[in-house]
Amino acid sequence: MTTDGNGKSAAQPAPSSTARGGRAGQAAAGTAVQRDIRLPSVVVVSQLAEAMDVEPVDVIKRLMRNGVMAAINQAIDVQTAAQVAAFFGFRVLAQDTATRGTRRQGTATASPEETANLTGRAPVVTILGHVDHGKTTLLDTIRKSNVVAKEAGGITQHIGAYKVDYRSNPITFLDTPGHEAFTAMRARGAQATDIAVLVVAADDGVMPQTVEALDHARAAKVPIVVAINKVDKPGSDTDRAKRQLSEQGLLPEEWGGDTIMVPVSALRGDGAEDLLESILAVAEIAELKADPTQLARGVVIEAKMDKSRGPVATVLVQDGTLQVSQAVVAGERWGRIKAMVSDGGERVKEAGPSSPVEILGLDGLPQAGDPILVLADERGAKALVEERRRAQAALRAASSGLSLEDVAAGIRSGQVQELPLIVKCDVQGSIDAVRSGLERLSMETAHIRILHAAAGTINESDVLLATASKAIIVGFNTRVEPGASQIADQRGVDVRLYNIIYRLTEEMEAALRGLFKEEAREVVEGHAQVRQVFGIPRRGRVAGCQVVDGLIRRGASVRVLRKGEVVHTGPMSSLRRFKDDVREVTQGFECGLGLEGFSDFQEDDMLDIFRLEGGY
Ligand code: GDP
Repeated sequence: MTTDGNGKSAAQPAPSSTARGGRAGQAAAGTAVQRDIRLPSVVVVSQLAEAMDVEPVDVIKRLMRNGVMAAINQAIDVQTAAQVAAFFGFRVLAQDTATRGTRRQGTATASPEETANLTGRAPVVTILGHVDHGKTTLLDTIRKSNVVAKEAGGITQHIGAYKVDYRSNPITFLDTPGHEAFTAMRARGAQATDIAVLVVAADDGVMPQTVEALDHARAAKVPIVVAINKVDKPGSDTDRAKRQLSEQGLLPEEWGGDTIMVPVSALRGDGAEDLLESILAVAEIAELKADPTQLARGVVIEAKMDKSRGPVATVLVQDGTLQVSQAVVAGERWGRIKAMVSDGGERVKEAGPSSPVEILGLDGLPQAGDPILVLADERGAKALVEERRRAQAALRAASSGLSLEDVAAGIRSGQVQELPLIVKCDVQGSIDAVRSGLERLSMETAHIRILHAAAGTINESDVLLATASKAIIVGFNTRVEPGASQIADQRGVDVRLYNIIYRLTEEMEAALRGLFKEEAREVVEGHAQVRQVFGIPRRGRVAGCQVVDGLIRRGASVRVLRKGEVVHTGPMSSLRRFKDDVREVTQGFECGLGLEGFSDFQEDDMLDIFRLEGGY
């Protein structure tokens, strides 16, 4: 690993091989010296590339590694831009309005002393797991036994996050357990968590939401520590939990894997110390750093309206130090901080990296996951908020989901190498079938990444995961829950339903080849079964069939299936009832049906009757 002049390890990974030389090439070549660039709150990818003097394709690739798919002319928000810029050795300052005249002047190039202020910061931990496996109990137990001793009268209050001090090592816990909150924040572009603790009750073992939580943590690329809980309970079986977790790809250290699994009893407190030690061990590997001398950057954890105090937002400071009386912007809200209250209920004047703090003084309620920025003055804050409100449409477009067609276009142009999917099926057996069908599809240019596969309906949490990870949802023999369907529409998430595996794999294959076009989308209108085959002079053979469901419309397309295999697909040539041509035949009725270029019908063949949207 390279070290810079200050003897610190260079945190930046190596640049991609296609990065150009020159300014950016040098900046990205493993030096920790950062340059500053100024960007507006919403920036187009090409502008960002230009500002850094980097090829746009390298910016796009980097965005993709961060789970953001954006085309060259698409807008991204400044937080996302900052993550990419950091990789190339740049630090992003909000344009004009930010960082003037306060703690530090916004300089063109950060001097070595500035980066020398980087110090270790507390890990931020989220607790995930199946309902009733003990997440809340674990949080409470850790909190009670490790909260820094308060002066008499100090009230510990729940503000959405709290910091504990374990043997002089601070750890911050987000107090909103569960992966829904975790992924909802990610869907807004915020990654607040450094480490996920997955709670599995030893008496219950791995349950559907355990798997869901695990997949969400993995999609966020967050290191995972497992707490096997309720070991005090009769009937608890730690080894079974470990076996089940191994089946999910989490192999415990003691079995040669790399996941720390700690047996605990959240109720009695047994093992809690081991768990905290393990969290610290994982945090050490992650080398979490921040610069407390900088202006603060953070994220809103939760916000509520308080009758006497007005809008109150809990903010997690991620870098820098937040101070009372600073002008801040959180999402589309702004204000001057009137007061700050710590998780211990004390009034504080400032809050450093990884500290949760309530802030008072915003002009309204921001949303969980909104990034928070410090500006030089109220005027600047107001201007930025106005700009943000104007840019909302652009931001929404940038943060909305991708369709399968978008991904296919990305693959075709070489910008995308991955098709992230969330797969929901009726039963476990179908998941295996769909999975093996999809696994066969990987190509040199692009491959499928399944973020989450489970039996059940498509729910809100799936849609949020798809939004956060720019994934496509495919449902096989399942349906979308009404609430989820609404959010999917709002967020532009592509939810695709199938009832024939080969259709599913065919479309995904077309997408991987960059060929998928939505116009070719089939709308199945009905199904029919062949009862009898007739030979008709000069017209070949026609199928006497019964409409099983839906309807058959004259001129539709027909797929002939025999024992689940497709034997022919093509347009209809005739549709008759008795001797008359008809326009359509509905469920329950019989008809005679002929196809163009196919007459090899057999009894019991199934027919899918469909039309191509935008086609016929
Ligand atoms: P959550 O839904 O994951 O937040 O679960 P809770 O923390 O609310 O716990 C669910 C139930 O399990 C509660 O009745 C707890 O008292 C109980 N519980 C949690 N941890 C333990 C434990 O370590 N041992 C036992 N015996 N019960 C526990």
